[in-house]
Amino acid sequence: MLDAVKDAVRKSSIHVCVVNCGGCNGCDVEVVALLSPRYDLEQYGIYVQNNPREADVLLLTGAVTEQWTDNLKRIYDKAPEPKIVVAVGNCPQSGDVFNQEGGHVHAPASNFIPVDAAIPGCPPRPSEILEAILAVGPQAIADRGREEK
Ligand code: SF4
Repeated sequence: MLDAVKDAVRKSSIHVCVVNCGGCNGCDVEVVALLSPRYDLEQYGIYVQNNPREADVLLLTGAVTEQWTDNLKRIYDKAPEPKIVVAVGNCPQSGDVFNQEGGHVHAPASNFIPVDAAIPGCPPRPSEILEAILAVGPQAIADRGREEK
């Protein structure tokens, strides 16, 4: 019974998991802002998950520090197929301020996992993050055919 209800809800919702692979938290703060009454992420049927195994969309922030070169793929593999990766901010694309001489970051993240959409900015606005999720998330749900477990 509970599983049936859960499946019914998930057929019309998008579940995102935020993965910070070594940033300043500036982008994460903008993601958190999406939960505020101003943006009210859940009114769009988007829910934030801590567990990548529950995620349709991985929201990736950060510049890929040394320990994340392995962890990134490990977490990516935990998310069920098909999954969408949205890179938030400049860090996952270029390393931004962390990619300087003497720095030890390994951006772009796309060297380690497939990235489906990228949102530039340092940090991008919450509205831009929301638009990107809505642009790619429904396709993840459609592709999954919800949900032939
Ligand atoms: S893109 Fe800018 S705000 Fe976002 S984690 Fe990198 S340095 Fe911080």
